[in-house]
Formats: sequence, C-alpha cells, structure tokens
Amino acid sequence: MLDKIRIILVNTTHPGNIGAAARAMKNMGLGRLYLVAPKKYPDEEAVWRAGHALDVLDNVVVTETVDEAIGDSGLVIGTSARERKIPWPLMTPREVALRAKEEPSKQDIAILFGREDRGLTNEELQKCHIHLNIPTADEYSSLNLAQAVQVVSYELRLAAFGEALPSEKETQNDKRDWDVPLASTEAMELFYAHLEQVLIDIDFHDPKTPRQTMTRLRRLFTRVRMDDMELAMLRGILKKIDKTVGGK
Ligand code: SAH
Repeated sequence: MLDKIRIILVNTTHPGNIGAAARAMKNMGLGRLYLVAPKKYPDEEAVWRAGHALDVLDNVVVTETVDEAIGDSGLVIGTSARERKIPWPLMTPREVALRAKEEPSKQDIAILFGREDRGLTNEELQKCHIHLNIPTADEYSSLNLAQAVQVVSYELRLAAFGEALPSEKETQNDKRDWDVPLASTEAMELFYAHLEQVLIDIDFHDPKTPRQTMTRLRRLFTRVRMDDMELAMLRGILKKIDKTVGGK
C-alpha cells in the first residue's frame, strides 16, 4: 500500500521543509515525493534536513502543475488546517489511512500538501475526493508542513502493517475488486469542462454569475467516485445534448 502513495508538496517556499518531509516519509517506509513548482529546489538546506533520506530526494519528481503530479492517481486527498466555505468529505489521518487500504491496488493515491503561508487554494482542494484534517488545539491549527507529512505518513504505516479493525471489514467503500478502473482526475477535469459548457449552452449556468454551481457539482461527482465506464456514459449523454441544442 505504501508504494502507491504519492506525497505532493505544492509550491513549497522553504527547501528545509522539503528535506524534512523526505526524512519523515523514509522513516515510515514511503518513498515517492513530488514537488509542484518549488520556490527553491534543489538546495543544500533540503539535503541537510533529509538526513539519510537522500534517496527520496534523488527520486523526487518536479512538475509545473498540480495536475501533472496527480497524473492518473485514483484517489486524491487534500490536507488542510482550515474549514472551507463549502464543506467537503472530511477525514482524520487515521480514517484516510484505512480508506487507502481499501483502494484498488493498481491506482496510486495522491496526497497534496499546501504552501507554508497559504495552504492549498480552493481550486486545488476541489480536485480532491477527500479533505484530510489533522485534529489540533483550537488556538493554533496549522502544523509545520514537514510535521504534517510526518503525522500522515505515520498513520499510513500503522494502517498498512497494523491489524485490520473490525469495522473495516464490512465497509461499503471497498473498491478493491471493482470491475472497471476508477475515473482519473484528468478524465474528471475534462468531464467538468464539458459539463460546464453544456450547462451554459442550455442556459442552466451563467459563468458571469456562477454562484457555486460548478463547485457543488464537483462535490457531488467526487462523492460518487465514478468508474471509467460510468464517466464514458455521461460524456456520451453530454454529447447528445450538445447535438440536440446545437452547442459547441
Ligand atoms: N495557513 C495555512 C497553513 C499552511 S500549513 C492554511 O490555513 O491552510 C502548510 C501545510 O501543512 C498545509 O497546506 C497542509 O498541507 C499541512 N497542514 C498543516 N496543518 C494541518 C492540519 N491541521 N491538518 C492537515 N494538514 C495540515
């Protein structure tokens, strides 16, 4: 299970945090670190803070966009210290780790960590199936980036090697034996773009006064976790609507 985990650090400012995150990962048996447009990397500070996790740094994948780093991952988790305006499915690190165990074995699991000063943007958080919040004291909820990576990696390790909890066995969310691959984030982004265009064409949605239509629709489809075949059907329906109303 741990080999499927991509830890993705978005727009990190301090290279020391990158090194410390690499170390936190290696301590827990994780090895796949992705950096989206880091401010300063490679950097000596990252090497100092990595300790004996230099192999994790050597294998780092640097990308320009979050979408590239997520790639064809099947489950995308966004970590956040704050509650957002529109509530999203929210889990603790422990719940996320148990969920990760139930995922199909072939698809990666991406876990996004935000900027030191501003966290993840709403747009980035809306790409995620689940939001992960590390429970903290009310007075100060924001952990250091690498320490947040540590807590999450630790729970993943416990879940990967620990005894299964009884409640885990009868869960409704078990996708391991699903017959069709789950839709990738890339495919979902194309679907949302298509859906928005059709909603505009049929005068349901006005991009000038968007309210939160697309956000709420994203949340709906994120909850469902569609597979490739279901997604292909919906795309087919959208195409027919397009044809009928003479849209683009
Ligand atoms: N001011 C920012 C905090 C950024 S802390 C904000 O309000 O979002 C940097 C990153 O560490 C966050 O983006 C998140 O990935 C992680 N992090 C820090 N505290 C966390 C917490 N309590 N739960 C989950 N992730 C947390």
